[in-house]
Amino acid sequence: MRMDGPGGPETVDLLVRHGHLLVMDDAETRIADGAVAIRGRTIVAAGPDAEIAARFRAAREIDARGAPVHPGLVETHLHASFHTYRCVVPDHMAEEAVFDAIEARFYNTVTDEEEELAVLLASLEMIRNGTTCFLEAGTVLAPEAAARAAQTVGIRAILGDTFIWDRPVGLQMGQATGDGARGVPSRLVRTPASREEALAALGGELRRNADPDALVTGHVAVLGLGTASEELLLAAKAAADAAGVVLNFHHAYSPADTAADRERYGKDPLLHLAEIGVLGRNVTLGHANHLTDAECEVLLATGTSLAWAPAASMVWGHGGSRHGRHAELWRRGLNVGLGSDSANWSNEFDLFRQANLAILATREGKEDRMALMPEEVLGMAIRGGARAAGMEDRIGTLTAGKRADLVIHTPDRPEAIPTGDPVRMLIGSARSRTVHTVIVDGRVILDGGRFPHLDEPALLRRIDAASHALLARMGVTVERNRVPPRRAV
Ligand SMILES: [Zn+2]
Repeated sequence: MRMDGPGGPETVDLLVRHGHLLVMDDAETRIADGAVAIRGRTIVAAGPDAEIAARFRAAREIDARGAPVHPGLVETHLHASFHTYRCVVPDHMAEEAVFDAIEARFYNTVTDEEEELAVLLASLEMIRNGTTCFLEAGTVLAPEAAARAAQTVGIRAILGDTFIWDRPVGLQMGQATGDGARGVPSRLVRTPASREEALAALGGELRRNADPDALVTGHVAVLGLGTASEELLLAAKAAADAAGVVLNFHHAYSPADTAADRERYGKDPLLHLAEIGVLGRNVTLGHANHLTDAECEVLLATGTSLAWAPAASMVWGHGGSRHGRHAELWRRGLNVGLGSDSANWSNEFDLFRQANLAILATREGKEDRMALMPEEVLGMAIRGGARAAGMEDRIGTLTAGKRADLVIHTPDRPEAIPTGDPVRMLIGSARSRTVHTVIVDGRVILDGGRFPHLDEPALLRRIDAASHALLARMGVTVERNRVPPRRAV
């Protein structure tokens, strides 16, 4: 260890002191009075406060006053541009009606500027909730607008190309209800209309990775859910392999998705995808709520990751959380990250909430509490997420050499008291309510509950006005729910 030498202490840019460090390393190290030294974008050292404070001097020190300090949470399944129409889908609307009534109209109306504002809203919310990185699901029509929004807020974003699909009719099957298909879905005018167009667009976001310090990077996203041919999936996997990034696609949100693919392939869909070489350690499947025993085995054998969205899995009554195998697969060593999915599917981009729901979902039907534990779901939200996003070499632990993406909580909230086990406190009581200061890439993005570089209230008013204008052009009115009648007794 380098202590005070002839030159005195080393100079760094920022010291975070007196935090209860959750290092999130393999040893699950916790340091009750710890400190993190940051220079530029990078963590230089993390360890006991007395040791770090003796070794480094910094232009700025942040005193965590004993509250938890941990790496930023990583959102692994997100549709970032839907946020300006959250809470718009009424609860009485049928699942198969949503695409034509809302989503298709949104995609055929939204401008790039409106997408930018939606991603700004999502990004502000994620930072406030301790999420410092998100993997977008490849459904922003103008990724450049999403990139600008992420850079404005300062959140780490991993973008994909727009709607990589070559058989959109698959979506019809995915959303079919028990009595069969409902016809061809509305055409989305700005999405690829043929395999050639999808192949031409595929991998466009990877150019961002030429800059090793880029805050916004690219990965390969395919929509999935039966909307891609084998040729397109294989091209996507090859592009992800060549670029050293993640291939990310939706899989088995509902039983209908699985049924359609099973018919197409003549076997369990993941068995077929494993055989043709589409699965692997750099592949992340969004949802995967409905898996057979054999599919669980190929996931383990190939090292594929899952992006589990607990809130979204419960929306339409598909039993995703009840039937999901995420918890048992995690215990068997499979990598699982957490996701919020989208507005109207979870309405809140808060991974602490998803982590809490993951526990509750796996407790359901059990006679004791031996379901997922807080340590496990926090592991999914941070380390699991970093790997599922293809970022495990850069983020996910408070260790020297990693990018400085940190969340510092406050002890000044009732939910943080009494102090004790910091992980049970974070997942059980405090969650995102105690998030106080957030650092991304070495930069203090949220400083004591405020964004120092942004006029957040003005931005929120502008986004609200833009949302109302967008809905008006979509021809969508925010209907009150048709609440079933209830007889007074
Ligand atoms: Zn999704």
